[in-house]
Amino acid sequence: MIVIMQPGASQTQVDHVVQLVKDFGLREHVIVGTDRTVVAAIGDKRNVDKGAIENAAGVDRVVPILAPYKVASREVKRESSVIPLGSGASLGGRKVAMIAGPCSVESREQLMEVAEAVKEAGAVGLRGGAFKPRTNPYEFQGLGEKGLELLAEARERTGLAVVTEVMSIDQVDLVSRYADVLQIGTRNMHNFNLLSACGGTDKTVMPKRGWSATLDEFLLAAEYVINAGNSNVILCERGIRTHETYVRNTLPLAIIPAIKRESHLPIVIDPSQGTGHAYMVPAMCRAAVAAGADGLLIEVHGDPEHAMTDGAQSITPETFAKTMRELGAIASAVGREC
Ligand code: PEP
Ligand code: MN
Repeated sequence: MIVIMQPGASQTQVDHVVQLVKDFGLREHVIVGTDRTVVAAIGDKRNVDKGAIENAAGVDRVVPILAPYKVASREVKRESSVIPLGSGASLGGRKVAMIAGPCSVESREQLMEVAEAVKEAGAVGLRGGAFKPRTNPYEFQGLGEKGLELLAEARERTGLAVVTEVMSIDQVDLVSRYADVLQIGTRNMHNFNLLSACGGTDKTVMPKRGWSATLDEFLLAAEYVINAGNSNVILCERGIRTHETYVRNTLPLAIIPAIKRESHLPIVIDPSQGTGHAYMVPAMCRAAVAAGADGLLIEVHGDPEHAMTDGAQSITPETFAKTMRELGAIASAVGREC
């Protein structure tokens, strides 16, 4: 349930409500909005005296949260969240955040070339996998810590925020030492222990939607992170599995308005995993920005034909720069900027 405080309720009144919530064995999550504060009370409500909370000074009303997810829900926080991306950039505000870079970090030369090019074209974040979740165990698994070091070096050079995947709980500390944003891959969206472990860090966390997860399951994955104490969560749609074969995954852009209705969290679209084909990526970038995406996660490679992973869906730095120019016009048509 959520306790909606009256506009202008004092800090002492909010603190008192928090104490009451705790006394009833619930966990509190305080959201300070522009006009009022809301205290979300999470947990088993069977022994809660709702009237006692309702009568506390400064309380306007107590209402149940109907959605299965609570702190990720827009019922709890009406204003859209602006989440820090790192290096001074953020995601969820007026500016649509572009996160671009290779699928995998392959070498210093490859990474620095792409990082400088995407920065020049207007990206604010650098993507690149150091630990790669590969279906085939004999394929390139990523450079590991060496890849993380290169990402940190690229951040140093360009000022781009680093977004990279963490595949398991035992990697969380290591990846957190280098990354600004911890990406949780589609295959791990149901790894609840990993979600909670990332929720225990002070890094922004970006779960990608499981390729067969429903919207509710996706938001419940975000709920795990927030529930573990970390509200800095970005959602990423990367396409789902359908019967269709002309795409690697089917990219459901309708999730953008759906997420905007259901949650206050920002949504990023990954048109690279979302289509599997470089030629489709610019069109899906344009469509995503037009539909209200808060950011894009795009695979860019200096030599896609020789990329160690996902070359077929990687665009070149030149195509990225051209796409950025087109996105500027679309963003301003929908009240945003790139
Ligand atoms: C990636 O971003 O390269 C990746 C492996 O993503 P996903 O988990 O969406 O497949
Ligand atoms: Mn990839």
